[in-house]
Amino acid sequence: MDAKVAVVGTGSMGSMALWQLARAGVDAIGFEQFSPGHDRAAAGGESRIFRTAYLEGPQYVPLLLRARELWRELEEETGFGLLDLNRGLMIGPEDSEPMRNVLASARDFDLPHRVLDGADMRREFPQHAMHGGEIAFLDEWAGVLRPEFAVLAAATAAQARGARVVTDSRVTDVEPVPDGVRIRCGDRTWTVEQAIVTAGPWTQRFVPAIEQHVRAQKLVMTWYHPRGGVADYLPDRFPIFIRDRGDRHVFGIPALDGGSVKVAPHASYGELADADDLDRNVAPADLEPINATVADLLPGLVPTPVRVSAYMDAYTSDGHALVGAMPGVDRVWVLGAFSGHGFKMAPAFGQVAAELAADGKTGLPVEHLDPRRFLT
Ligand SMILES: Cc1cc2nc3c(=O)[nH]c(=O)nc-3n(C[C@H](O)[C@H](O)[C@H](O)COP(=O)(O)OP(=O)(O)OC[C@H]3O[C@@H](n4cnc5c(N)ncnc54)[C@H](O)[C@@H]3O)c2cc1C
Repeated sequence: MDAKVAVVGTGSMGSMALWQLARAGVDAIGFEQFSPGHDRAAAGGESRIFRTAYLEGPQYVPLLLRARELWRELEEETGFGLLDLNRGLMIGPEDSEPMRNVLASARDFDLPHRVLDGADMRREFPQHAMHGGEIAFLDEWAGVLRPEFAVLAAATAAQARGARVVTDSRVTDVEPVPDGVRIRCGDRTWTVEQAIVTAGPWTQRFVPAIEQHVRAQKLVMTWYHPRGGVADYLPDRFPIFIRDRGDRHVFGIPALDGGSVKVAPHASYGELADADDLDRNVAPADLEPINATVADLLPGLVPTPVRVSAYMDAYTSDGHALVGAMPGVDRVWVLGAFSGHGFKMAPAFGQVAAELAADGKTGLPVEHLDPRRFLT
């Protein structure tokens, strides 16, 4: 055996899985086609939102609370500053499902929060142009993560505890053999007891039994300059936000570089037949909807972006990830297709991966993410 556990892809989830395996003293080896902390898959673009009251449903709150603890432990272990809890605003119609979900999360788990009406918003957060019927939920345990540093931090921490990482090499095969799993990577073959596939946008390639339920999507991020000074858009005055208004779905992150505010569409820019097909160019016409949204909802910003970049994530057909046993493949686990909202929970999913590899089960609630739900 070359190692006890192999981790295929050391991006968001893989780096955290490797860290948790190494912490548990497991002999683990990671394989990465680029190198940890690269920006060519799902974890690029400078920032990711962390939030605790979850508009996708309160069933995620225990994972989020555990992730919050682990982000702090990773900061402590590495000395990297990764999570700034500068608070978060969820803005939308009071009777919408996302708003009901954040309110249910807060109620069920006693999360610190406030509910602000239009007048409160105009007084406290005048950067947002509020419209009739909208309220804002202020999540005190929301903020900003630094994705590239975070992945690098986890991989570095794992290596410091003895994990190995093979970089710049693509895994082309993960195949169960009688007493383990064979991994083909570059011109070498490795044999391990178990494998964890965390291939992000390339997940579809590794899940033949449920392939039709998984697709990579192109996602675009845009940054805008304030018209006047930047002071109102710095982290202490401008919490992260998510806003749903009619067919406009956007999220925003304060000016981390001291100049530009990320306001990006919460929408796909197209399905990819394969993650290798990503075209990182963005046509000017494709930016018109987000520019119009910025002009309408954030009038203090110049509504043409100063920065544009394209990334991708794998999505399932129900918008919830695949976490559990790989359907039809013994000794292989999959954690993938996080459907545009996985980063904040990455360290908790790292723990899940390590527990699955050790015991075949996990104490964290991930039943709703079981890949077998797509087997018909
Ligand atoms: C633009 C954008 C904005 C987002 N915003 C948020 C947000 O604000 N908050 C949030 O929580 N989530 C957000 N997400 C979602 C989140 O970033 C992803 O769900 C998460 O990063 C997915 O992690 P992953 O490990 O599955 O993929 P990745 O981080 O991409 O990791 C997969 C890794 O596997 C490697 N790999 C793949 N195939 C192979 C192979 N064959 N051999 C070797 N290596 C391989 C890749 O190179 C990569 O490093 C956003 C995503 C995008 C794209």
